[in-house]
Amino acid sequence: MNSRRYYLDYNATSPLSKSVINWLQRGDFLFGNPSSVHSTGKKSKREINLVKDELYQRLNFSEDTFDLFFHSGATEGINTIVKGWAKSLQQQNLIGHFFYLSTDHSCVHNLREELLLDGHKVTMIDVDQNGDVDVDRIIQLLLESKDHCLINLTWVNNETGVCLDLNEFKAIKERTDALVHIDAVQSLGKIENAFETISVFDFYTYSGHKFGAMKGVGFSFVKNSQKIHPLIRGGGQQQGMRSGTENLLGIMSLKFALGDLFESYNYEQLFSSKHFIEEKLKDLLGNEGEIVGRNSRLRNANTIYFICYKVKAHTLSMALDMAGIDVSNGSACSSGAVIPSRVLLSMGYSEKDATSAIRLSFSPFLNLEEAQAIWSTLEKVLVRFLAK
Ligand code: PLP
Repeated sequence: MNSRRYYLDYNATSPLSKSVINWLQRGDFLFGNPSSVHSTGKKSKREINLVKDELYQRLNFSEDTFDLFFHSGATEGINTIVKGWAKSLQQQNLIGHFFYLSTDHSCVHNLREELLLDGHKVTMIDVDQNGDVDVDRIIQLLLESKDHCLINLTWVNNETGVCLDLNEFKAIKERTDALVHIDAVQSLGKIENAFETISVFDFYTYSGHKFGAMKGVGFSFVKNSQKIHPLIRGGGQQQGMRSGTENLLGIMSLKFALGDLFESYNYEQLFSSKHFIEEKLKDLLGNEGEIVGRNSRLRNANTIYFICYKVKAHTLSMALDMAGIDVSNGSACSSGAVIPSRVLLSMGYSEKDATSAIRLSFSPFLNLEEAQAIWSTLEKVLVRFLAK
């Protein structure tokens, strides 16, 4: 058996990128509090501003149109934006209507109850069997609402890899008054045009640990015409948007990780390497399984989500783990019971299939040679199950 381990769970989190590791090894860290007025503090402040400049520039946002704030990751960023928007409306005795897709991340889905308790409205929009959603249907729902609307759109789905073509979704801004939040967490290193962000929407959220930066740091761009009620109050750091001393080293790691991606990411190479594994897998599965979202309009270049009809995901992921491959399964375990994937159920899959899905999510730098090596190990495990 090959003794090498293959980490195929990049949608869950990524290892630190090379430049982040080199910087950590050098050990010459700034430590001053960026809010302090002395030189040591000012140095940290300057560094944070440099990172900000880099994020604006690399991700194609204008400083004239967008504010940028750092937080602990996308869960906090999205909570801040959605709850902050709702709270601002509440203070004006207005009702908000929040829309999201049934395949969105739990940090979006689980805001539902709190918003409803506060008297707002929430509509979950179903996707089809391929994970796609029709923009005209969304526009119709938004136009029918009499309240102030905010919709969350997940650019690249973390579980299925199905993407939204944001060019199509610009029509929401053209034809409705709704505000739009883009969950951009899974875009960097996974699609072709993540650095050419279409910046017509109102809010965008990213998370560092998904693209080689440290855990516990993320950032959101907020259109400066939008005044969001802050989630976290305290010393008023970051123009009051997010109080608390900034996570300086985490913030600095964003710049290094983004730089590595910007310099070395090769979409074609990633796409063709993933394609190699996917085609082999499709042939091997035959009619004993399927690849989720294969007929969707747009998919990312790093994710293969597949179902083996006769094998529970838990069993297969354990076997893969023992063979040296880290994967994720869509179903969750709670108190010993396996809960089917909410995302797959919402795409119309049966409970049985929704507990039988395995997600492979690859490094942005996957190449064909590695893909061949991965396939050789993967195939050996899969044939044991498929032949039964
Ligand atoms: N949104 C998407 C699409 C995600 O994939 C994740 C994490 O898996 C999140 C939000 C939450 O990100 P974080 O781990 O930074 O809180």
